[in-house]
Amino acid sequence: MKITDVKAVYPNYQHVPASWRTHFWQIVVRVESDNGVTGFGYGGGGVAAVEVVNRHLRELLMGREVNSVSDIADAWDVLYSESLPYGRKGIGVMALSGIDLALWDLLGKAESKPVYQLVGQRSKDRVKAYATGMDSEWYRELGFTAHKFAHRWAGQESDYDSAISHASLARDLFGPDALVMIDTYMSWTSDVTIEMGKRLAEYNIHWFEDVLTPDDLAGQAALRGEVGSTLIAGGEHESTHYGFQEIARADALDLWQPDITWCGGITAGLRILDVARDAQIPVAPHRGGEVWGLHLIVSSDCIDLAEQNPGRRDAPRDELWIGQPPVVDGYMGPSDAPGFGVQVNEAML
Ligand SMILES: [Mg+2]
Repeated sequence: MKITDVKAVYPNYQHVPASWRTHFWQIVVRVESDNGVTGFGYGGGGVAAVEVVNRHLRELLMGREVNSVSDIADAWDVLYSESLPYGRKGIGVMALSGIDLALWDLLGKAESKPVYQLVGQRSKDRVKAYATGMDSEWYRELGFTAHKFAHRWAGQESDYDSAISHASLARDLFGPDALVMIDTYMSWTSDVTIEMGKRLAEYNIHWFEDVLTPDDLAGQAALRGEVGSTLIAGGEHESTHYGFQEIARADALDLWQPDITWCGGITAGLRILDVARDAQIPVAPHRGGEVWGLHLIVSSDCIDLAEQNPGRRDAPRDELWIGQPPVVDGYMGPSDAPGFGVQVNEAML
């Protein structure tokens, strides 16, 4: 089939947390083809990525034939190389991710197959879900059996106490064997991380995420093995297999977390998994419980873990994608519907 149109839209979000996300949160990419099938993808980079898609990447795709997974990989390579001067990481690749996922959705719909079937042999019937957020009691009520909470280091001694009290709460709620993780969103230092490793030892934290900035690979590499059995995790701010090759060369992380809607889509995700296999590093995609990551997880050697962000009890949320698979008894899996199996909420476009 031939691509006849490509269009990116920044949805009218009502409930995005005020931050960089206000302007540069997720975009929707629509790809149309001459056989009447339309593919939808989800990328990052907000209004800037919309411009990247509609002004530049679109013209590179118009009239292109896409009939196989290798055609999608070829298109990826063209878009990546043509956007190199301004791309490679960040907004350029966030835009490319939306196109890549729209092409996977398009091909799946054209062949009446779920994306996971295009990715490979499905090896996981269901995936263990973990809830990210601060409303720990509610996540337990929802049936989650694993949990990650956020912790920000603000430079005060009491920040150790707040980490300990939430770790204690999570361990009590989820039980002695549950996976409990902490996301520091780049707010800890090396010294804080080592001290946290000692003070939190009794809570058996599975990983510390994004303890330093993604630029400090040497600093993260030095922390591996220095915080007991807790893993040093990260990667949501890194892009493509080229970026993860740098992480591998630096031996920087125990666990990689590429975001499939930011790192270059499923095409990049598969290449990152190739790098991870060579480096013998486990991969658990950021926001992997959304269909864009979930279809990859069930048919690849990603580990058996899918991140969900339920928010807070009774808090209003934007429902951009209709048909996201539910979490049942702490587990989830993609449906067998063609493509990614979700419909965009047109009222938000
Ligand atoms: Mg994170």
